[in-house]
Amino acid sequence: MGDTWITNMTHFLDTQGQPAVFGGSQRIAKHFGAIVSDLTISPPATIREVPLSCRRRPNRKACPGKIHAGFEPGTTNIIWSCPVCNDRGLIHHWQNTIWDKGGRVRLPQISKITYRHGFLDDIEEDADLDETILDGAVVSHDIILAIHDNEILGTGGVYGDPTVGDPLQIDQLEIEHPGGPTKITLYNRAIMLFATNDEFYVQMHRVCCAIDKQ
Ligand SMILES: [Zn+2]
Repeated sequence: MGDTWITNMTHFLDTQGQPAVFGGSQRIAKHFGAIVSDLTISPPATIREVPLSCRRRPNRKACPGKIHAGFEPGTTNIIWSCPVCNDRGLIHHWQNTIWDKGGRVRLPQISKITYRHGFLDDIEEDADLDETILDGAVVSHDIILAIHDNEILGTGGVYGDPTVGDPLQIDQLEIEHPGGPTKITLYNRAIMLFATNDEFYVQMHRVCCAIDKQ
């Protein structure tokens, strides 16, 4: 019976997003990174063999197994195993690392994005918001990846407290897609992001930044 590895790929990176150099981690980072790269170059719908040998050496002899890997159904986690020695694991937080080649199994079909945002002295005057409308044909791959990787499409609703913040920061996102539309209103993104580091605000921040960059 082999080990079970739970791997967060960002733990192998320094603050610049480059592979960190500490205590023998480079070899293991390279190994798991190779799994991420292979799956994001040509994303498989099911588990398949990747061109990578098992790294275990039971009884000091190299395990002859080839790694099998794929995406865990219903999540963005990568799962892998060696069919010979049963070494296995799960890789998460691999998105946007240097090993991520950008491919995904199923990207959402987005027909339109309407993004309204700005700062208001008074919630009643929301006609003053900046508005960006992206027709599906011009939505960049980075935006679609940000929406997919941050699992935004299932999170419609109103978040944050509109009575906090002076001026009030508001971000409104309407995403039209086959299961949608998804409408999200977010109050005080910057305050919430830095004060709470709440995961949903972090995810929404990534999506808003991707739209701003287009
Ligand atoms: Zn093995």
